[in-house]
Amino acid sequence: MSRISPLNWPVVRQLRGGDLFARGENTESERTKEMEGRIASADRVVKSVCPYCAVGCGQRVYVKDDKVIQIEGDPDSPHSRGRLCPKGAASEQLVNAPGRLTQILYRAPRSKEWVTLDRETALDMVADRFMEARKNGWQDTDDKGNPVRRTMGIAGLGGAAMDNEENYLIKKLWTASGAVQIENQARI
Ligand code: SF4
Repeated sequence: MSRISPLNWPVVRQLRGGDLFARGENTESERTKEMEGRIASADRVVKSVCPYCAVGCGQRVYVKDDKVIQIEGDPDSPHSRGRLCPKGAASEQLVNAPGRLTQILYRAPRSKEWVTLDRETALDMVADRFMEARKNGWQDTDDKGNPVRRTMGIAGLGGAAMDNEENYLIKKLWTASGAVQIENQARI
């Protein structure tokens, strides 16, 4: 049928198709018919959890050619049931942002320059500072001579973006290290 045929006019299509309220495909434009959903071209879907906060909403990550093309709420999640807040719904922008940093940067004290570090070096630097602060703040006894065997040189502040398992392990690490100042952002 020609696109300029009177039979192709939306109102005629509507009447011929019995679509009196113009809610069916009879009133779709050609352009609309050619459009497809953002996830239609994905070659696989990976289940994940929103990284932004402790609500932990379930996500479906749509992947094409090993690249994330869209992230949406997972209807199978028992508590979020397919929903994401605006921040979680923008997760794809976190993954594919052109300005996203993918290397570890370090700026030494009093330096104006940032340098990139490999992961092993960065982790060793964190561990060295942790152990030094722990040692420097160590107390065997308090002011009254009571044994305390603790360190006041380090404190832990967990983030609400961490899941239960991460918080469990990190709390163990802090406590085993002798820290007594341990908090979580979600409790403050
Ligand atoms: S979608 Fe929103 S509420 Fe859900 S985990 Fe992400 S940031 Fe939190």
